[in-house]
Amino acid sequence: MKELRELFLRLVGVGAPSGFEEPVMRVLKSELEPLVDEVHDTPRGNVVGVQRGSDPEAPSVALVAHMDQIGFIVTNIDGRGFIRFRKLGGPVTRAIQGQQMRLLTGRGPVVGVVGIKPGHITRPEEANRVPPIEEMYIDIGARSREEAEKRGITIGTPIVYNAAPVELANDLIASPAVDDRAGLTALIAVAKTLREAPVPATVYYVGSVEEEIGLRGAEVALYDLDVDMAVAVDTFPAGWQPDVVMRDLYYEVGRGPAVHIGEIAQGRVRLGHQRVRQWLMEAADEEGIPYQAGLMHGGTDAMSLMQTRAGIPACTLGIPRLYSHSPVETFDLKDLHRLVRILVAAIRRLDAGFSLRRI
Ligand SMILES: [Zn+2]
Repeated sequence: MKELRELFLRLVGVGAPSGFEEPVMRVLKSELEPLVDEVHDTPRGNVVGVQRGSDPEAPSVALVAHMDQIGFIVTNIDGRGFIRFRKLGGPVTRAIQGQQMRLLTGRGPVVGVVGIKPGHITRPEEANRVPPIEEMYIDIGARSREEAEKRGITIGTPIVYNAAPVELANDLIASPAVDDRAGLTALIAVAKTLREAPVPATVYYVGSVEEEIGLRGAEVALYDLDVDMAVAVDTFPAGWQPDVVMRDLYYEVGRGPAVHIGEIAQGRVRLGHQRVRQWLMEAADEEGIPYQAGLMHGGTDAMSLMQTRAGIPACTLGIPRLYSHSPVETFDLKDLHRLVRILVAAIRRLDAGFSLRRI
C-alpha cells in the first residue's frame, strides 16, 4: 500500500492531457524498463512493455490503461492577454471557474487562474447558471497578447488543472487525473509483482493515448501484438455521494474494484467479454478479494479492444471514484491494492488449459 501510494503520487503529478501524452509516456517507459523483457513506444504514442511467459501455449493477455487525462487547450489569446480555451475530453463544466490551471508550454509550465465574475455584481438570473466554456477565460497575469506569447502560450497549448493531490481519511485520495493514473499505477505494480515470480502467460502492459477523446489509442494499440485477451484497467464514476441516487450509480468507493459486465454510453449498453470477466471473478473469489459487479457509465478502452483485429475478448476492471472528471476525483487506495491483487491472481491462473471460447 505504501509503495502504491508513492507510485500513484509520482504519476499523478505528471500533466499530460489527451493528445499531449509525451511526459507520461516517458515516465511509463522508464518505470516499466527494469520490470519487463522489452518496452517500446509507437509513433502513434502507445507504450508497450512485454513480460514473456514460460509457456507459449498459455493465452497472452494485455493490460491496458490510458495515459491521457482530461484537460483543456488554448484556442485564442485576446489583446489584453486573457486566454480562451476548450475542453480535451469531458471535464465537468461546473467545476472549472475559480480553479488554478497549469499551461504546459514548450518553455515549461505557466500557472493561471480561471476568472469568475464578482458575486457583488452578478444578477440573480446569472447566479445559478453555469456559463458555457466559450465564455470562460484564463488569466496568467499577462496584460497583452504579446506578453502571453512571450511566456510561451500559443494557440494549441495544452492545459491541466493545477491542483496537488490531498489525502483524506480512510485511505481516500483526491486529485485531478485519478482517471487514469490509478490504472497506470496498477499496471506497474502488477509488472513488479510478476517480475519477482514469473508465470506461464505472456503479459503485455499497454499505456494507451487519447482515451478521453474517444478511446482512440486503444483502437490500434494491439494491432500488431500477439494478444489473445485484454483487460482495460480504468476508473469509473461511483455513487454514494449525497447528490447521486442509488438508481443511477450503485457502486461504492472502498468496496473493491468492479469487474464490469459492460458499459452504458450515450444510452446504449455495450457488453464486455463474459469469459474474461468470469476469469477475473473466479480469481477474486478464490483469493477472497472483494469486488463489485455491474454496468458502468461511460466508455473504456475495452470497447475499442473488442473491435480490434479479429475481436479481442476484453472487459474492464475498474477503480470506483467519486466526483468524476473534476479536479478532486476521489478514490480509495485499498481498492487499487485489491485490483492489483485480483490481476496478479488471475494472471497466475492462466495456462495452456484456459479457453476463451463462449460455447
Ligand atoms: Zn478513464
